Amino acid sequence: MSANAFSPGLRRGSRRVLVGKVGVGGTAPIVIQSMTNTDTEDVFATAMQIAQLARAGSEVVRITVNTREAAAAVPKIRERLAQMNVDVPLIGDFHFNGHKLLAEYPACAESLAKLRINPGNVGKGAKRDEQFAQLIEIACRFDKPIRIGVNWGSLDQALLARIMDENAQRAEPKNAVEIMREAMVASALESAAQAESLGLAGDRIILSCKVSGVQDLIAVYRDLASRCDYPLHLGLTEAGMGSKGIVASTAALAVLLQEGIGDTLRVSLTPEPGGDRTREVIVAQEILQVMGLRAFTPLVAACPGCGRTTSTVFQSLAQDIQTYVREQMPVWRERYVGVENMTLAVMGCVVNGPGESKHANIGISLPGTGEAPVAPVYIDGERALTLRGEHLADEFRQLVADYVARTYPSRI
Ligand code: SF4
Repeated sequence: MSANAFSPGLRRGSRRVLVGKVGVGGTAPIVIQSMTNTDTEDVFATAMQIAQLARAGSEVVRITVNTREAAAAVPKIRERLAQMNVDVPLIGDFHFNGHKLLAEYPACAESLAKLRINPGNVGKGAKRDEQFAQLIEIACRFDKPIRIGVNWGSLDQALLARIMDENAQRAEPKNAVEIMREAMVASALESAAQAESLGLAGDRIILSCKVSGVQDLIAVYRDLASRCDYPLHLGLTEAGMGSKGIVASTAALAVLLQEGIGDTLRVSLTPEPGGDRTREVIVAQEILQVMGLRAFTPLVAACPGCGRTTSTVFQSLAQDIQTYVREQMPVWRERYVGVENMTLAVMGCVVNGPGESKHANIGISLPGTGEAPVAPVYIDGERALTLRGEHLADEFRQLVADYVARTYPSRI
């Protein structure tokens, strides 16, 4: 983690909650989560996707547990993951019938590392408290932490009505947006207090309050962070597809992370039809890495290109190198200490190329339009050699591989 990654006056230092083998909160690194979109009843498909998410870097994975068949599938999913040597902690996502499913399928509760409970979907009227208490009793009995996950799309309506009534009595009533935000935070904090009063330890509780608006999310989490020391799970819910989802999530999460708010996060991207679910994991890693909060994979700096880059050689090399380091990382991570901190630069011409290259561990400047057909390579700030010709990409990859092997201490 870089020394100047945070502003001073951080909130981080919340309680630490153990989710399976993964610590969340306190001084633990910010944990990356993801969620499957397979039918949990389909043991094979769900286990396969969990394995893909875990291999991409998801440190905990959430699965929907919505039916008896899904609850019965959870231990089988865990078994299949064990056969694949995947031990990522699983979180069960429960709504409406969670109290019944967990009571009827104790092996499901046993197989999960955490239970996610939405206080707006636990039950209505008098049943709400009764069913919430049943869920907490099960969490205590199986010694499982819980996430109290408030979502503005399913806000506890009784609580919202109460807060609206209270607001109406105020000399200066708050507006509808402020009331929604207040109700979300109240739902999380009151549910946490209720869980503790029912016997769940405070260091077994994580909170989240997800909304889909960037400014709402920032306001809600600032308020929540100032009023409790439970670890907070961050995420912009329903962020959307493609660049919109990535930009909206990054805009919201970056502000909060910079203020030291957030102990675990998920980037909720809608995949394109047939798209890769692991994209949300990579985006989450990239948010943390570009902010200097964690390092996962060597970063490749590349210029945007301009009229000096008249062929696609430059874009192809930048993409080729980014793909290469991602593909190598599972092996490099096992073998070399600190390789994730390596930086690379692929530049389109000599205008900014050498300068940027000097700041990277390895940088290359391709020839721009009208420049000599040579590509100077800088290694650790020094001009090391010049590449040219049709095998340039292969040679640059080899340079990177050699650099990794001689620079980062071996774990073996
Ligand atoms: S480094 Fe060269 S090619 Fe890249 S944007 Fe700058 S001037 Fe254009």
